[in-house]
Amino acid sequence: VREMMKMTGAIQRRATRAVQVGDVFIGGTSPVVVQSMINEDTLDIDGSVRSIRALHEAGCEIVRVTVPSMAHAFALGYIKDRLREEYKDVPLVADVHHNGMKIALEVAKHIEKVRINPGLYVFEKPDPNRVEYTKEDFDVAKQKLKTQLEPLVVSLRDQNKAMRIGVNHGSLSERMLFTYGDTPEGMVESAIEVIDVCRELNFHNLVISMKASKVPVMLAAYRMLAARMDALGYDYPLHLGVTEAGDGEYGRIKSTLGIGTLLADGLGDTIRVSLTEDPIKEIPVCYGILQGLGLRRTMVEYVACPSCGRTLFNLETVLHEVREATKHMPSLSIAVMGCIVNGPGEMADADYGYVGKTPGKISLYRGRSEVRTVNELNGVEELVKLLKEDGVWVDPP
Ligand code: SF4
Repeated sequence: VREMMKMTGAIQRRATRAVQVGDVFIGGTSPVVVQSMINEDTLDIDGSVRSIRALHEAGCEIVRVTVPSMAHAFALGYIKDRLREEYKDVPLVADVHHNGMKIALEVAKHIEKVRINPGLYVFEKPDPNRVEYTKEDFDVAKQKLKTQLEPLVVSLRDQNKAMRIGVNHGSLSERMLFTYGDTPEGMVESAIEVIDVCRELNFHNLVISMKASKVPVMLAAYRMLAARMDALGYDYPLHLGVTEAGDGEYGRIKSTLGIGTLLADGLGDTIRVSLTEDPIKEIPVCYGILQGLGLRRTMVEYVACPSCGRTLFNLETVLHEVREATKHMPSLSIAVMGCIVNGPGEMADADYGYVGKTPGKISLYRGRSEVRTVNELNGVEELVKLLKEDGVWVDPP
């Protein structure tokens, strides 16, 4: 199978264990999972239930919430109950922002996964006279870390729930910053330290993230972590994201570069595109990245030429019309090409083609075979007719 994948260009994903988060699995043979996060204050139970539901209906498979206080942790219990009663048991993950073990333990009762930031544990005050952190200092710190994390790890382990070790470039611990600087190496050491603590406690439901707002830093950190884990025989899945990517076109480009580059290397089992916009807008970007790389198929694959002096019709308008007529049939691939000079050859392996033939006339293709020539005015209608004749048409919902 691997040889065939190489030949077809399909991405070979790094082998990871499957980590269960409610009814979703991250890693293993599962498709790459899409995540996002609500903006609501978790104390706003109505608003949170509404947003979680809207995100889930839009295709977000795991929804993240924040839990800055004990009251927020209790609120999560109500949110979960409401979701189960009014909608479904959406898998939730909560950020526990600081070393609030009581909060984390309360959260762990209600939801499927807890995210911790290793940089916020084992607080060390910067000391201007310090020359180095010795190996002994690291050993002592690791023991402290284990003592701090143990109750949460044991709780999650015993309930078969999951933990994300969410390393953030911007919030490494003093010890890591002092020793490794503000580097991908420091991020990797932070993650490995927590992984080792969890392993010592026989807890393996781990997902690791190495987020940074600079794409090259994030790429280096994830690659270095994957290499390090492979060398150690650790098969924990990766959660990919570019943090604080911003908004609009550039936010999407940055996220796609960071997430897509790693996915293309076979790294990554769950993704979040972080935009400074309504989180619901992150979901199509996630699915677009996954479809573009052939990792998930959730929408029609349209192949369209950019148009040029040979184009025989308004490509932008026709592509829009074809999309409106066929977008509900995700298993199809449809090409819209401006001319027959290059169109048929370049429409790749599309199932159907709509190709400009002569002024006012277009040709419809089934695979690489021309089926018929029709008047451009009825082009989209005729395409739909062809799909119906072939028995592939599905009525829109
Ligand atoms: Fe131009 Fe034809 Fe190529 Fe489209 S397919 S870009 S119309 S040459």
